[in-house]
Amino acid sequence: MEPAPRGTMAAMPLFPPSAPCPCGRTDARGRARAWSACCGPCLDAQHPAPDAEGLMRSRYSAFVLGGAGYLLATWHASTRPAQLDLDTAAKWLGLQVRGHRTIDAAHAEVEFVARFRVAGRAVRQHERSRFVHEQGQWWYVDGDVL
Ligand SMILES: [Zn+2]
Repeated sequence: MEPAPRGTMAAMPLFPPSAPCPCGRTDARGRARAWSACCGPCLDAQHPAPDAEGLMRSRYSAFVLGGAGYLLATWHASTRPAQLDLDTAAKWLGLQVRGHRTIDAAHAEVEFVARFRVAGRAVRQHERSRFVHEQGQWWYVDGDVL
């Protein structure tokens, strides 16, 4: 199956290039990475995420910014839903990447905790996600809730 086309982010709201990336990644000095130096280039379809953790982070940012097109475009064809309706009422509160395990050149797992609030209720999503590298890019496959 053909991968979903890139460049489907026209509906993505603009995000300031110098603003801290929604995924919360920090540099070696603990400073927040800017959108333009983190997930921005992935969501702007300039280049695919460099590794599974980068893809996981960029997908979190897509949830924050309402980028359903990016989520579908980075979802492996074997598990990709036909469509995705994001819950626009969800307020994303933060992402913590707990671990990034490279299994081999084409398989990796990322364990994370994502927190959000919906209908006044705080939700903590702890998941280990599986990723595969095919056709020159990483894809989200599925995950186990922990
Ligand atoms: Zn980021």
